[in-house]
Amino acid sequence: MTETCTQPISKAEVDRFLFGKHITGCPVCGRFRSQCDVDVHTLTCQRADPDSKAPVNVLMIVCQNCGAIQFHDRSVISHWLECQKRVLVK
Ligand SMILES: [Zn+2]
Repeated sequence: MTETCTQPISKAEVDRFLFGKHITGCPVCGRFRSQCDVDVHTLTCQRADPDSKAPVNVLMIVCQNCGAIQFHDRSVISHWLECQKRVLVK
């Protein structure tokens, strides 16, 4: 699973995730999302939990209409994308 964690997630993949999860509108301004509405940034931050030294990869998604920021756990997205691939293979 470490492979999927280090693979870059493209904007298109994030988009697929958002649509797959029916997160198709900005929660703040309600604007319907299309590919060009989403700015994706990857952040790496340390967990607040002192026992865990593993960095958390977070995707920051910025609404280009109102600037609202949503964070999504990168591992959740890559896991979802993996599952989608498996469905397609079957
Ligand atoms: Zn917005």
